[in-house]
Amino acid sequence: MKSNFHTHTYRCGHATGEDIDYVNSALRAGISILGFSDHTPWPYKGEYKPQVRMDISQLDGYIYSILSLKERFRDKIDIRLGLECEYFEEFIPWLDELAQEKNLYLIFGNHFPTSAIDAEYFGHSTKDKAHLDYYVETVLRGMEYKRFLYLAHPDLFMRAYPHFDEICEKASRRICEKAARLGMPLEFNLGGYQLGADRGKEECYPHEKFWQIAADCGCSCIIGFDAHSNAALEREDTWKKAVDIIRRLGLKRLDSIDQIVPR
Ligand SMILES: [Zn+2]
Ligand SMILES: [Zn+2]
Repeated sequence: MKSNFHTHTYRCGHATGEDIDYVNSALRAGISILGFSDHTPWPYKGEYKPQVRMDISQLDGYIYSILSLKERFRDKIDIRLGLECEYFEEFIPWLDELAQEKNLYLIFGNHFPTSAIDAEYFGHSTKDKAHLDYYVETVLRGMEYKRFLYLAHPDLFMRAYPHFDEICEKASRRICEKAARLGMPLEFNLGGYQLGADRGKEECYPHEKFWQIAADCGCSCIIGFDAHSNAALEREDTWKKAVDIIRRLGLKRLDSIDQIVPR
């Protein structure tokens, strides 16, 4: 079964297309469950306008739009409503209440260590051991949050790290061992294929050495398109490539978040 629980919308400021375009692309691609998980807004104090996520004032519109599409396409495709979130401790009570009230599924994307306005993006900062360790520490902490269904792009650090070396191996093992212990699936993120190609970076995520370790640790995985354009959902090549690698490594793949055992 083809499904995707990692879909963005134009609201985050770095994705394109209307919400309905994603639904139509998913239908063309034969996707049976389409989960929207745009970058969550946060209740920042003051006038701060985030650059990589929707403003909190757009949240109701997002929810309304996705639920309307869910209703409209109910006979054709199973649409789900969620958010991709960092673990910012001070905002967790707010997120808890929101997820409960609106019945949202949450995926964990550890893009930033803190909610500070000048916090560095891990996809750019993890070029050395110190930053990679910081990434791992914050991942391990956030994984404890019970509402996170799975960890998105666990090997995000390979967006910046030059070559997968022994340091990466140790870091990967720490993440995978924890995921296995918690029974938390790891996302095999297709978005990294495009990023690596665009930037001419030979080693990006999803990195096979990371996934070999995940397989050794007995982790389960779920494929996510991390679609920032509706066209991404129609890419058959990256989906096939992922399915082949997962099969070859002997990783257990989940089709749906419904198969994740609540913690
Ligand atoms: Zn994004
Ligand atoms: Zn994402």
